[in-house]
Amino acid sequence: MSGPAGLFREIHRLRRFAHELQEQIDRLPRQQKAQQAKVARQEEILRQTQDAVKHLKVEVHSKEGTLKALHGQIAKYQKQLNSAESKKEYDALQHEINDAKAACSRLEEEILDALARSEEKAAQLPELEKAVRQAKEEQAKFEAAMQERLASYQAQLAETRQQLQEREAILPADLRAPYERLVAARGHEALSSVQEHSCAACYTEITAQQYNELQQELFVLCKSCGRILYLPE
Ligand SMILES: [Zn+2]
Repeated sequence: MSGPAGLFREIHRLRRFAHELQEQIDRLPRQQKAQQAKVARQEEILRQTQDAVKHLKVEVHSKEGTLKALHGQIAKYQKQLNSAESKKEYDALQHEINDAKAACSRLEEEILDALARSEEKAAQLPELEKAVRQAKEEQAKFEAAMQERLASYQAQLAETRQQLQEREAILPADLRAPYERLVAARGHEALSSVQEHSCAACYTEITAQQYNELQQELFVLCKSCGRILYLPE
């Protein structure tokens, strides 16, 4: 690490690494939110299914009550039938009985249907409860690992920044100002290595003069993208 080429190479490596670490750090809260959302989603599906079972039970109960009342009504009509005093009254009662019987079969069908749906929904509950438990376990695992990962990334980042500062401190004085201006604007994108006589970032070929200057450890910017160029090892 004698001239600026070696320094820029090292600085670029450290800046890229710091950038990657920062991305990992930033990604963690987003992953955490996704885990929390998954738990909430599973809990919501479970709650909706439990509610549906509850509502169907209420529906069955209410319809059974109506059915019982209708049977009572039919029995009453049949008693009245025996003491009917005219054909007109008899026919009217018979008509009521037929209507009530039709209503009873409709209700019975509806009750059977609601019972079937209730059973079907209730059968889904164990799987849904399991899904909630699993989502919670995954979330807890992620949370535990997240703290460790965060601490590790932060420690690595602090160390990388420290190393970066040490390298930047030994940059030749005349390069400090242009270097600082460029990295302030573009971060790790302010530098690029030269591969096969081209800028590795934008693939623009460098001139023979630029190549000579780089070999002499001079400060060279890519004519196309403006990055600080350095030769690879
Ligand atoms: Zn370039």
